[in-house]
Amino acid sequence: MAAETHAHGTYPDPSAPASPPRDLVVRAAVEQGLLDSEPVVCLLDAAGIRASAAALNGAFAAAVAPGTPVLHAFAVKAAPLVPVLRLLADAGIGCEVASPGELALARAAGVPAERIVLDSPAKTEAELREALALGVAVNADNRQELERLDALVAAAPTASPLGVRINPQTGAGTIDALSTATATSKFGIALRDPGAREWLVRAYVRRPWLTRLHTHSGSQGVPLALIAEGVRELHALAEEINAAAGRRQVDTLDIGGGLPVNFASDAHTPTYGQYARALREAVPALFDGSYGLVTEFGRSLLAKHGTVLTRVEYTKVTGGRPIAVTHAGVQLATRTVYAPAAWPLRILPYDAKGAPKDGPPVAQDVAGPACFAGDLLATARELPELAPGDVLAVPDTGAYFFTAHYGYNSLPRPAVHGFTAGPDGGVRFTLARPAQSAAALVAEAGGALRDALLQPPL
Ligand SMILES: *Cc1c(COP(=O)(O)O)cnc(C)c1O
Repeated sequence: MAAETHAHGTYPDPSAPASPPRDLVVRAAVEQGLLDSEPVVCLLDAAGIRASAAALNGAFAAAVAPGTPVLHAFAVKAAPLVPVLRLLADAGIGCEVASPGELALARAAGVPAERIVLDSPAKTEAELREALALGVAVNADNRQELERLDALVAAAPTASPLGVRINPQTGAGTIDALSTATATSKFGIALRDPGAREWLVRAYVRRPWLTRLHTHSGSQGVPLALIAEGVRELHALAEEINAAAGRRQVDTLDIGGGLPVNFASDAHTPTYGQYARALREAVPALFDGSYGLVTEFGRSLLAKHGTVLTRVEYTKVTGGRPIAVTHAGVQLATRTVYAPAAWPLRILPYDAKGAPKDGPPVAQDVAGPACFAGDLLATARELPELAPGDVLAVPDTGAYFFTAHYGYNSLPRPAVHGFTAGPDGGVRFTLARPAQSAAALVAEAGGALRDALLQPPL
């Protein structure tokens, strides 16, 4: 929030409203009663999201030759909320979708089909048909999907730009589960497998309607140079296809997303400007205007702009180990709870009135509400001694955390409130997702089908 909004560096928009400072936001949330009826809420910094969108637009606008078409498509899975997609659309960002649900969210947000890209590895024939009827761009993941496209393209004309996803097999980052460009990753057509490159060139030359090439070779834990290497492979393949076709058949490169997020401080690093420089170094011709570009950033647009606020419900000492029991756990921070070394989160302490809490540091565990022992947001974290009623802020949770709810213990999806600076220097909250009610939980759990599993009468 606040100070870091301008840390994007290269492209501040002086007319854009600044984000209010975090401490002001936490105090306002407490004073305005957001934690009165619910013990945990999620906050989104609308001005911060706009600032990140502007930084992305600016970094690429500064890098590409004038007139180069660029579509930044937000990876919807990073924050699948309609108001977020609407805000991003307003800031000039489209959507990358990977399921019928994500496509429905993008359309509900009013994102036009020509600003949507569909990328899932398991598209059904019905999904493909819908995408082609809408004119949504599609990147085929594999050879069998390409054969399905052959039939669909032959059956009906489509406005959809079509491409193939390749896996450049450039190697893994520090988190295996998020490394998409390993030798054996499940995504795309593996470029270095025997015969694959030749097969791809032939496949394109035989299909004049294949005009795009796609890769997404990074995510959290993948260094910029390695992501850029994947893009270099993509560019080289496009040149090879176009040479074989004798024309500029591939006109657009979709370079995916994957800029990592800094979870250790408020700094927005690495920046989009640094990424554009890494790309320019690795692939000098990428920005020369011979290809239009599509990007698919997710976490880097949203992560820093989300914060979870939870009350401390109880504190106790067990076996000499101080534990604060809160309402923020595995349902909101699934990756952190199951893979704490890969996904550490900061915990910022406030008192019951929402004022920053000071005091000598005591190593404490911060536990969530779920009924399994591993439901911990942090272990042995040095914090002022916590007390019931205190408020904890968990920053950097705007992507893949509270928007990727995990329904363990039937814990409800908490409310998401957007915030902006009010005209009077205060903070204005607007509801962006209602808390899931007990009635909704029951309904989604088959509440209307109560007798479905009873023995039918003989
Ligand atoms: C997840 C994903 C992205 C976004 O990745 P981030 O690390 O959030 O930027 C982009 N493209 C594809 C195909 C993805 O699967």
